[in-house]
Amino acid sequence: YTAKSGRNTAVIFDEAALARRLEQNQLSLALVLAADRDEFVVHYQPKVDLATGMHLGFEALVRWQHPELGLLPPGRFLPLMEGTQLIRGMTRAVIATVGRDLDAWKRAGLVPGTISINLPEVLLVNEEGYNLFVETILANRLEWHDFAVEITEDVFLNRSADQILDTVARFREHGLSVSLDDFGTGFASLVHLRDFPFDELKIDRSFVTGIGSDARSEQIIRAMVDLSRNLGKRCVAEGIETDAQRRFLLEVGCEVGQGYLFGKPEPVDQAGERLPRQSGGVKRLAAVGSGRR
Ligand code: C2E
Ligand code: MG
Ligand code: MG
Ligand code: MG
Repeated sequence: YTAKSGRNTAVIFDEAALARRLEQNQLSLALVLAADRDEFVVHYQPKVDLATGMHLGFEALVRWQHPELGLLPPGRFLPLMEGTQLIRGMTRAVIATVGRDLDAWKRAGLVPGTISINLPEVLLVNEEGYNLFVETILANRLEWHDFAVEITEDVFLNRSADQILDTVARFREHGLSVSLDDFGTGFASLVHLRDFPFDELKIDRSFVTGIGSDARSEQIIRAMVDLSRNLGKRCVAEGIETDAQRRFLLEVGCEVGQGYLFGKPEPVDQAGERLPRQSGGVKRLAAVGSGRR
């Protein structure tokens, strides 16, 4: 009889865990409304040429301006979106914002370079992601090569790999560069590297952090840079915080970098202040290959 046996069982009531759970639930509820309420904000972090420090473009990084909690980093809310459709509305908001910001920068005579968008797999398995770019490009008189796309290795777990390949091939046919993000931390196998058409390999910050202190991280970075070069891909390192890290990466042949050393993610106005004016040339992060395999 359950009620009786229950008396002998110690019920562990973890108040802290419950409080956390309630907080997450409240956050999830507010998140449902965030896109409609225009609460998603885009910050821009520069990508630079490691040798010269020249500005090449920005990565667009989403934040959530929560009405009470303030500006929240993606680590606080992206996990709550997993398995929901909310990430679609958020991505729509991010791309629309970037389109308007690009237009404003260009009108002001500034040269923003290429803006990289983190594109989740739900927008790659059908036409939605592709169409979002078409809409934004038309609405703001932009060009395909104003944008680049970053995709994490998780997409390789998806059953619709063929559709994803299709979307990626279409992007590249338009000259939009496709980047494999957080390389070495997820599920990419060498087979994927062989079969997946991309332009850029992004070395994850967890390896860059080890430069100067962890010989293994350094060796793995060397191997990744060699691999990307031999495959004809551009190599980008993220999370560069020191000049020693920058010099090491340059020495082993990595050309492009991103990190606090060059600039933190900043709101649109601040980011605009670092942009060169139209007369000075800015290199583009163009697609390396030519579309379909
Ligand atoms: P990610 O795409 O790998 O972006 C790089 C992250 O590293 C960013 O964190 C950036 O602020 C951080 N970072 C860059 N340089 C440094 C550095 O020198 N030191 C340190 N400590 N950190 C550095 P953030 O903005 O918190 O974004 C975290 C992740 O959230 C991103 O990782 C990306 O996976 C995801 N994310 C961000 N924005 C979007 C978005 O618009 N859409 C989607 N789907 N995901 C996004
Ligand atoms: Mg990224
Ligand atoms: Mg990354
Ligand atoms: Mg990362």
